[in-house]
Amino acid sequence: MDLRFSDAEEAFRRELRDWLEAELSGPFREVRGRGGPGDEHHAIDERRAWERHMGRAGWSCVGWPRAYGGRDATLHEQVIFHEEYARARAPGRLGHIGETLLGPTLVAFGTEAQKQRFLPPIVRGDELWCQGYSEPDAGSDLANVRTRAELRDGAYRVTGQKVWTSLAHIADFCFVIARTDPGSVRHKGLSYLLVAMKQPGVEVRPIVQMTGTSEFNEVFFDGARCEPEHVVGELHDGWRIALATLAFERGASTLGQQLAFENELREITDLARANGRAREPAMRQRLAHAWMGLRIMRLGALRTLSTMQGGQLGREAMIAKLYWATWHRELGKLAMDVLGDEAELAEGAPYQLTGLQRLFLFTRSDTIYAGSNEIQKNLIAERALGLPPEPKGPVPGRP
Ligand SMILES: Cc1cc2nc3c(=O)[nH]c(=O)nc-3n(C[C@H](O)[C@H](O)[C@H](O)COP(=O)(O)OP(=O)(O)OC[C@H]3O[C@@H](n4cnc5c(N)ncnc54)[C@H](O)[C@@H]3O)c2cc1C
Repeated sequence: MDLRFSDAEEAFRRELRDWLEAELSGPFREVRGRGGPGDEHHAIDERRAWERHMGRAGWSCVGWPRAYGGRDATLHEQVIFHEEYARARAPGRLGHIGETLLGPTLVAFGTEAQKQRFLPPIVRGDELWCQGYSEPDAGSDLANVRTRAELRDGAYRVTGQKVWTSLAHIADFCFVIARTDPGSVRHKGLSYLLVAMKQPGVEVRPIVQMTGTSEFNEVFFDGARCEPEHVVGELHDGWRIALATLAFERGASTLGQQLAFENELREITDLARANGRAREPAMRQRLAHAWMGLRIMRLGALRTLSTMQGGQLGREAMIAKLYWATWHRELGKLAMDVLGDEAELAEGAPYQLTGLQRLFLFTRSDTIYAGSNEIQKNLIAERALGLPPEPKGPVPGRP
């Protein structure tokens, strides 16, 4: 097992690091460190400009094939990208859903016409995407999707409600899981549709979160139009495509995020030193424990990369989401405990929160989105360890 990056990969790292340092000390210095969890509402226009700037400089979508505007970066290089991005405290991405979820899905399953239409504007930072999966009765149980799409007057008409749709309020398009076979149940009869957000029949209602800001939304479709050529994969075969997108969601970006976490832990440790909490043995132990968790995460990511076979992540990659989400949620709590009484105070009314307060509130959601902890444990049990599947339907002996 070789846990080091190669010379060529380290050269890639230096090139990116120099570019980020120059841009974020210069024209984009205002957005440095902004737009992260709990701060997503900040400087949307400036961060859209940043997306376009990255596209022009060839630093968006680095893992995509060159033919579609990427750099053909290997998984190792993609991890380096995410590490350096976090190390530089570059702004929270607005284009990540298009870049890391929809793009790879289209590269794998889209028609050539779909690729030509949708991929270049993502690379250029011109079109933003959101993910229309969850519904009021379809979260962990995604196969319960009720949003439907029916062919009328030469186009699919989408009707139904999505919820928790991140960035829908600024997105140009949404990839929507909808039932196209009216008589179907569960995962059969679903299709994967690319739907324009700025059209009649789409209403977006922001949901105010604990941070007082709105990162996600309710989205109501009422006969919204989807061109027949914008169905990805075969009609009624959307479940397979939807699962592939979910697999991309747990890929390179999460393996490289420890450096963002390291910045947060450093801030908390500095604060503990400054306010004297670091002298308390129990607090020192918790800080050390958090630091060890971060090292374990980093080594786990490197091990995952070094044991990849045929470009595919191995089974151990399945523990990554459970581990980092739980660690990060605890970090939010640690931040509050280091702050002590101050954690309870807001500087202004209503909801003028500090970065650490936002971190605490937002990290409550880490163990929910992209598959909750309980669902991750089910997946590890069934797919990594080969344990018997979760019982479907009524459980014997239980009411
Ligand atoms: C910050 C944030 C951003 C999000 N962004 C998006 C987005 O952009 N697009 C989108 O489509 N969705 C998004 N979501 C929704 C997210 O995918 C769902 O919240 C998640 O899938 C859980 O679904 P649910 O909220 O309906 O909870 P439920 O599925 O109702 O779960 C409730 C509880 O029951 C547990 N549970 C459920 N089923 C089982 C089981 N079989 N075994 C054991 N325990 C179980 C869960 O773990 C959870 O603790 C986002 C969520 C958050 C928090």
